Amino acid sequence: MKLKIAHLYPELLNLYGDGGNIICMQKRCEWRGIEAEVYQVHNGELADFSDVDIVFIGGGTDREQKIVCDALLSEKEQLHAYVEAGGVLLAVCGGYQLLGHNYLLGDELVKGTGVVDLKTERGEGRLIGNVMIQSDICKMPIVGYENHGGRTYLGDCHPLGKVISAGGYGNNGTDGYEGVHYKNVIGTYLHGPLLPKNPQVCDYLLHTALTRRYGEGYDFPALDDTIENNANQVMQERLKENVVN
Ligand code: GLN
Repeated sequence: MKLKIAHLYPELLNLYGDGGNIICMQKRCEWRGIEAEVYQVHNGELADFSDVDIVFIGGGTDREQKIVCDALLSEKEQLHAYVEAGGVLLAVCGGYQLLGHNYLLGDELVKGTGVVDLKTERGEGRLIGNVMIQSDICKMPIVGYENHGGRTYLGDCHPLGKVISAGGYGNNGTDGYEGVHYKNVIGTYLHGPLLPKNPQVCDYLLHTALTRRYGEGYDFPALDDTIENNANQVMQERLKENVVN
């Protein structure tokens, strides 16, 4: 079996080790005997989504986001078709914001791709810190680090999860929700990178992509996640005294 993973604009969108998410997906495929081809799309190029199984878009500064946004806008129909056809997509922070209708670069309203019904506004100050959420996509709490100026508000779509650590902000610091889960798209503010210490999220993405390509019934053995679970646990412990529910 084989998966093709598109990494969009790695040089522009790679805050807080977001590229580690790609290594994690590759390794967890390799350890199961699944081939993982990484297809990087660089600045000045447009992505070809036609035979892609997973798309990854990392986070970046507002300035870098604008460059990527211009590229994505010129192929938003293709991205939209990929998403509507059930293509798997993981977008972190700046990349997550680009999925929505718009975001604010200073006072300038920047048009996003609008492939997911959400929008991002500016607020006072930045939302920074470690955060833990509970999501329907996996049993273990998802842990990560958030640092964003944008406040994201969802339209007709579901959040990825609920913020369960006090002091965590999530989408906007007010409604208690974090990220988005729309069809097979996951958008989140969690950096760190996300997947190495949340192996169940990684497997959710791989499993969804494999099922889409090969149907049910393939071999997807469990891995020894002792190290990954420890990393998750360490963050949970640190946040525990602040857990609100
Ligand atoms: N530039 C965006 C913001 O601050 C996203 C930053 C990020 O990817 N961490 O809202």
